[in-house]
Amino acid sequence: MDHPNSLVPQKNIDLTSPNNSNHYDVIVIGAGLTGAIVAHQLSASKSVLVIEKARGSGGRLSSKRVSGLPQGYENAPQFSSASLGCDEFSLSTQTVHTYLSRLCTDALAMTELDDGYKCAVKGRSSAWTRALIKESSLAFHERVQSVVMHDGIWTVTTECLSEQNISKTYSASHVILTTPPKQTIELVTAQRDAMPLLKGVEHSACWLSVLILEDLPAYRKAIETFNAQLSPNSMGLVHCQVFAELDTPHVGAEKARALMGLKLFADEGWSKENADADKQTIMANFVTLLAELLGVSVDQLVEQITFKHCHRWLYSRPMGSTCLPNAYANLGAGLMLAGDYFCGAISGIESAIISGCEASQQVIAENALETEASL
Ligand SMILES: Cc1cc2nc3c(=O)[nH]c(=O)nc-3n(C[C@H](O)[C@H](O)[C@H](O)COP(=O)(O)OP(=O)(O)OC[C@H]3O[C@@H](n4cnc5c(N)ncnc54)[C@H](O)[C@@H]3O)c2cc1C
Repeated sequence: MDHPNSLVPQKNIDLTSPNNSNHYDVIVIGAGLTGAIVAHQLSASKSVLVIEKARGSGGRLSSKRVSGLPQGYENAPQFSSASLGCDEFSLSTQTVHTYLSRLCTDALAMTELDDGYKCAVKGRSSAWTRALIKESSLAFHERVQSVVMHDGIWTVTTECLSEQNISKTYSASHVILTTPPKQTIELVTAQRDAMPLLKGVEHSACWLSVLILEDLPAYRKAIETFNAQLSPNSMGLVHCQVFAELDTPHVGAEKARALMGLKLFADEGWSKENADADKQTIMANFVTLLAELLGVSVDQLVEQITFKHCHRWLYSRPMGSTCLPNAYANLGAGLMLAGDYFCGAISGIESAIISGCEASQQVIAENALETEASL
């Protein structure tokens, strides 16, 4: 069967027939880390189509460049780095470590650190996730709108975002959704009742600010005291996180030593109330709150600030719950949910990798059973 990488819009296809050119063994929805892992695992033995609403792969691994930040980027998970200097991230399970070691390509260079399974991955996440899915057929910039069963075959309908009003349909024996729970429920309407755990999940967004200021010992102490009073999951009024180290090629080592980076998170309620406020107002609020916390005047604090940035951050996980362990499921008849929400590993990245591997294994096991049954 021919599986072209660029798929031409087609309508009114007979989806009940697995012989049409838009039929695949497996359709993976989402080209984030989970989707990329699934595609990588299955494309050797199955025809796989990956559908992604963004223009490229990476999902929440993607970093956003912000000029002026010492690292040159923000919003990037710590284990991968777009820049040459690489942050480190502790990947604690052997499965993940072994898996990543096997994947090392030019796009994905992994540095092993001395301490257990700590490793760091260099390179743009879009490049190395793309390397993982390169053997699959790809439909980028297409938003999946529904996933329904027709005569034992799954039909996936998408909206083509670059060509307005054009919808496309694909079919498959297996569909693996790697979308966040809320979207998943919207997509698989007919399976709503089978997903009780997903119903309560909402996304949260919070205002986040990054400030770099002169590192005065008194400030550090005040922030440490403040942090110590917060429970690990609490967002507090303002949660200040002192950057462990500043990776500051632009600032220079000497000056960097005298600087301190802070991430300030507003709590969810406050963020909701201020969802439509402009960034300048939010930043002014952050500075006022921080000045109060540090016991200095706003003017004094402003003098110490060498860099400031503010944005609204959509949480990748539902606040207060680390995962939805029982929701990770094969919902029967070839429909599966995967992604970091459904695995309780230490970090989101580990959860995505493990859950992607588990979903792929499940497809392989199901196929083996089907083959056995047909013999
Ligand atoms: C700012 C930030 C920092 C982070 N830092 C860390 C860190 O340091 N360490 C760590 O372990 N984890 C971190 N994480 C979490 C980690 O990035 C995620 O756990 C992981 O990337 C999730 O991968 P995923 O494939 O499961 O989900 P996603 O990356 O969300 O992939 C889902 C994909 O589905 C696509 N999609 C959604 N709806 C549709 C639709 N209708 N049709 C088609 N496509 C659709 C999305 O565009 C997306 O690409 C961070 C996350 C963020 C946002």
